[in-house]
Amino acid sequence: MPEFCDVAVPVPLDMVFTYRVPNGAVPVIGGRVLVPFRQQRAMGIVVEIHDRKPNMSTKNIVDIVDSTPVLDDQLLRLGRWIADYYLAPVGEVFRTMLPLTAEFKRVVTYHVTEAGQMALHAAGMSGSSARSRRTPEDEAAEIRVLDYLAASDGEVVREESLRSATRVSKSVLSAMVRKKWLTRDDLSAQQDAKRTVKMAVLKSAEGKVNANQQTLIDTLAASGGRVPVETLQSLEVPRTTLGTLVRRALVEIIEESAEFHVSRAKPRVSPFEFEFNEAQRSALTSLQSGVEARKFSGMLLHGVTGSGKTAVYLAGMRSVLEAGRSAILLVPEIGLTPAVAADLHQIFGDEVAILHSALSDKERAEQWHRIKRGEARMVVGTRSAVFAPVSDLALIIVDEEHDSSYKQEETPRYHARDVAVMRAKMANAVVVLGSATPSLESYFNARKNKYTLIELPDRVEQRPLPEVEIVDMRLEFQETGREQVISRKLAAEIRERLDRKEQVMVLLNRRGYSPVVLCRTCGKKLECQNCAIALTHHKREHKMVCHYCGFIAAVPKTCVHCGSEYVYFLGTGSEKLEELLHSMFPQARIARLDRDTVRGHEDFERTLSALNEGELDILVGTQMIAKGHDIHGVTLVGVIGADVALGLPDFRAAERTFQLLTQVAGRAGRGQSPGKVILQTYFQDHYAVLYAARHDFIGFYEKELRFRSWMHYPPYSALANVLVRSNSLDDALKWSGQLGKWFDATRHEGVRVLGPAAAPIMRLKRDYRYHFVLKSPSREKLNTTLRVMLAYSTQQKIPRTQVIVDVDALWLM
Ligand SMILES: [Zn+2]
Ligand SMILES: [Zn+2]
Repeated sequence: MPEFCDVAVPVPLDMVFTYRVPNGAVPVIGGRVLVPFRQQRAMGIVVEIHDRKPNMSTKNIVDIVDSTPVLDDQLLRLGRWIADYYLAPVGEVFRTMLPLTAEFKRVVTYHVTEAGQMALHAAGMSGSSARSRRTPEDEAAEIRVLDYLAASDGEVVREESLRSATRVSKSVLSAMVRKKWLTRDDLSAQQDAKRTVKMAVLKSAEGKVNANQQTLIDTLAASGGRVPVETLQSLEVPRTTLGTLVRRALVEIIEESAEFHVSRAKPRVSPFEFEFNEAQRSALTSLQSGVEARKFSGMLLHGVTGSGKTAVYLAGMRSVLEAGRSAILLVPEIGLTPAVAADLHQIFGDEVAILHSALSDKERAEQWHRIKRGEARMVVGTRSAVFAPVSDLALIIVDEEHDSSYKQEETPRYHARDVAVMRAKMANAVVVLGSATPSLESYFNARKNKYTLIELPDRVEQRPLPEVEIVDMRLEFQETGREQVISRKLAAEIRERLDRKEQVMVLLNRRGYSPVVLCRTCGKKLECQNCAIALTHHKREHKMVCHYCGFIAAVPKTCVHCGSEYVYFLGTGSEKLEELLHSMFPQARIARLDRDTVRGHEDFERTLSALNEGELDILVGTQMIAKGHDIHGVTLVGVIGADVALGLPDFRAAERTFQLLTQVAGRAGRGQSPGKVILQTYFQDHYAVLYAARHDFIGFYEKELRFRSWMHYPPYSALANVLVRSNSLDDALKWSGQLGKWFDATRHEGVRVLGPAAAPIMRLKRDYRYHFVLKSPSREKLNTTLRVMLAYSTQQKIPRTQVIVDVDALWLM
């Protein structure tokens, strides 16, 4: 029997830890074990079992949680690849891949040490010590704790019972641990993962029954003969009635595992009722033959907005299901609405598992087990669904592959699209990346024949793409003598649509009422206390809000810097735009979609379905309104400040602007009447605006690619952002200076290092931020440099959590 095993523990350290396997214990690779780690216990994943004795003392494994792997060989390899590619601690990667935290409950216990016993003794002898800075209350609390533990005589005392018996706060206990009067033990105990629900099953409807019994039988019969007992008990029937039916063997009660049920929204027309056009049919054929080949292939499905990509995905998945294999469909965060879930249930029945951010930890764990048991072979979900434990994976589809919600902005900073490609490679599966506006990286790869390019060049049913008109807001200012929010042209077009009973969407990608509050006396802005960011005025909620950290301040009457009364609220956000539209079109029914009006998928769905049902005339919103909705009545889309993002110091600003404009323009004219788009901009010559207006993806792509090539940006270089942060400005400066000197002294051939420089947002969530940008045509060289840098940083005692390495960073802010 091997004596040791290496365990990946979820801590911010780039290593695995060796533990001794106790006699008789049988850990499995890819299974979970409970191990002592520092003063606590941690749940780790076994990555290797071996006989190599380490040259330091090892501790024993505390408990073996799984007798079969929770991460199979392929997912273990995928996790190691992520750790390596993104320079992320492997234990943290595995934790991200497994949504099973709900199965464990932390159990914290306390014991008195010898020093604690002495302190208790001393307190009994002489009362309080003279030099103590503790308050008498604290002292009394400590004595209560020591007394209680001494009285329990070596028994295990849980934190909850200790605290309820002695009425002390956690901080008192922590202080006692620091003084070494107590030891704290952190055990994690497995909870029963399976939740069950009692179901009543109708066995027979024959025989004479009374009215109450008939009610229950009718209810059961109406629901296919199975109803949760809880539901029957909520009916207005005596509780004993069910018992009587059971005794008469008309009804049986069974226990079933409780499964998560998505809300069954009203089913829409199934996408399969459409006839596929030639391009859709040929896309589906390539996808299916790729799957049948049982070897890796990548496809980029570039289809204009409204070209019927989703129908191709679903048909592809259905053929995978019919072949008895598995498929994963990744969708952006906002794309998974209850209506989409209802569609999926209609097509795949119980074979689909839907994973979205509104699930509780427990529901997530349940879905994970359903997939692992092979009960759900069609998985649809947001980013982390790429780790779904399906077997015999045949197909992964990444819908709207350019969407930035696929990138995780915390450790591990992986991009689900790129992980999907790697997973497909490991599984000999097909990966399909779909978008109307593919990322430059993906299109570049398709051009270089790394992926097969499949085009859906036309909208379904030969509907035309909308006509786009650019309104130059500088001219508007000159001609009207005023700074306008809504141009005369857009106002006239909106009026025309309202007269014709057609619908309008207006996009302004900035929420709140006014984005800036400025003092005309001292010229200063009202900024967040934690970030170098102007606070946004939210009028209805009557407060000032930081959109980065959530900090809230009162609406100022005078300048907080100089006391002047001349404070001005400048600029327009979506809240003000909505108010403005109300005043211009008092008859119109107007709603707004942004993070302030949408708290969950249901709000989002409600507003969209109101629009769909013709209960709204105008929908105002941020980029939320741009994404993938198929509303047939919208014939006009207005974009206010089409160029908001172009002013940001970020090399992807043009690409993002082009994508947003193309996507929002794609909302117009999806029904019988053709659509029109008005783009209001101060940069009417900018190529991102011009190419979006012409629906010219290729033109934009060529131009942007030339710029990326000159500047050595992706896709021509691999790029990483290294951010050094601290809530102490001195530390941030010292650490970034140390790393800067190290980069200078150790020249890394083939890797360009820019920095250290203050990050564009120099202070965020109380941290001061400095960064380096590293670029290299060789990913290997880039990653080697980063790895050596992290080792140096550790050696210099810079905390690992304060040096953030973001490989393939989407934002350099
Ligand atoms: Zn002032
Ligand atoms: Zn803030």
